[in-house]
Amino acid sequence: MDAINPYLAMDTLVKLNSENLLAGGLSDEEVLENYKHAIDDGILKVMSKMGISTLASYKGAQIFEALGVDNSVIDKCFAGTASRIKGITFEYISQDAFTLHDRGFPTRSTIKPKGLPESGEYHWRDGGEAHVNEPSAVANIQDAVRNKNERAYEAYAKKEHEAIRNCTLRGLLDFDFSSSHPVPIDQVEPWTEIVRRFCTGAMSYGSISLEAHSTLAVAMNRLGGKSNTGEGGEDVERSRMSDDGDSMRSAIKQIASGRFGVTSYYLADADELQIKMAQGAKPGEGGELPGYKVSASIAKTRHSTEGVGLISPPPHHDIYSIEDLKQLIYDLKCANPRARVSVKLVSEVGVGIIASGVAKAKADHILISGHDGGTGAARWTGIKYAGLPWELGLAETHQTLVLNDLRGRVVVQTDGQLKTGRDIAIACLLGAEEWGFATAPLISMGCVYNRKCHTNKCPAGIATQDPQLRAQFRGTPEHVINFFYYLSNELRLVR
Ligand code: SF4
Repeated sequence: MDAINPYLAMDTLVKLNSENLLAGGLSDEEVLENYKHAIDDGILKVMSKMGISTLASYKGAQIFEALGVDNSVIDKCFAGTASRIKGITFEYISQDAFTLHDRGFPTRSTIKPKGLPESGEYHWRDGGEAHVNEPSAVANIQDAVRNKNERAYEAYAKKEHEAIRNCTLRGLLDFDFSSSHPVPIDQVEPWTEIVRRFCTGAMSYGSISLEAHSTLAVAMNRLGGKSNTGEGGEDVERSRMSDDGDSMRSAIKQIASGRFGVTSYYLADADELQIKMAQGAKPGEGGELPGYKVSASIAKTRHSTEGVGLISPPPHHDIYSIEDLKQLIYDLKCANPRARVSVKLVSEVGVGIIASGVAKAKADHILISGHDGGTGAARWTGIKYAGLPWELGLAETHQTLVLNDLRGRVVVQTDGQLKTGRDIAIACLLGAEEWGFATAPLISMGCVYNRKCHTNKCPAGIATQDPQLRAQFRGTPEHVINFFYYLSNELRLVR
């Protein structure tokens, strides 16, 4: 908070008030009082989300890491902060500030309206910020999976490669094939085997509709991959095989801090039990299912009360050390000796050491989750400013496990907007042998990516519990299967 110049903010407010640009007709004192009240509220909210109880801890906890900032800036302004890939200097920061100022107060005459244009930071806008999920990619992927249109998938992949180059760290990497010989395609692992190492993301029944949740499960069961319950329980009826041999059972049952719907049956009926320590898209923020999404069925599945909002706190209140985590891993193995136990961590500096502790605590599987997910249910501030790319966390985890002779003990998975076969190939090279996908399968099932998941008004019948909107759901397991077929085939052909 010391990085912001409060006097400049206050002077700006007083100036805006003197020019009658603030609504309400308040005095300068009242405006400043309201401003102080608002920023206090903001800081308290962040502190409570992170489980920090004193201001000194908030300032001293160093809960952030810089991404893409040069050491000259770090040393002067954020001494002691990790900044692993270096990046912009004061020169570029000042250019940014001048450019922004010039857009608001143009020095040359312009036909554009005065004021700042919509930057497209949160929602895609023509000419705005680049997004990984942009409209033509969404349209192409849906055309590809609905009509088995291979050319549409190729158009999707081409567009995504471009977007990934513009938006992500892995976009800066390239393959060097100069001293290698291509393997004949018939010697490459078939797509039916590759998809067995695919998982869908931990989106709970509640955050998404029963139709979407069970369609993902059926698709992954047909493929031999795994769908994930997310924290939110699962109706026991879904474990029964249907007459046509399909199963709506999620192979991965997640255990997070709220323990919603975590019963002995839930634990016993799983191939994998996943302890969620944090979410890649919003580490340290916990989860929240608003009361208007808690229908009678969801309340029953979660052992809660209809209409009452449900909050998963950011910390697990029974895990404050690696020994506590080891105890929970042991308990889960006792509850279901057949299931492998996974621990979901997020990408951050030092995650390699944590992963080593997790491997020593006898977990079988580690998931390194990146910042790019969240689909739309996460808060805007979390989506934009929390979390780090999986590339950094995965590389650190793999190397630390190798250095400590622990890599052979665990399977490592990664997720966070993996979009194409090229992304998976890079994840493999950085150390992952399994991969998770959430947004792309949702888009395959009809998500139009308008990011209104938290409103219960999803037009595609996915992130809603409204019966009328749920009736609009048009996704099928075949759509998800087709997407994974194209994706794994692209991986086989990466060159
Ligand atoms: S269509 Fe919109 S509201 Fe529905 S899942 Fe997709 S982003 Fe969320």
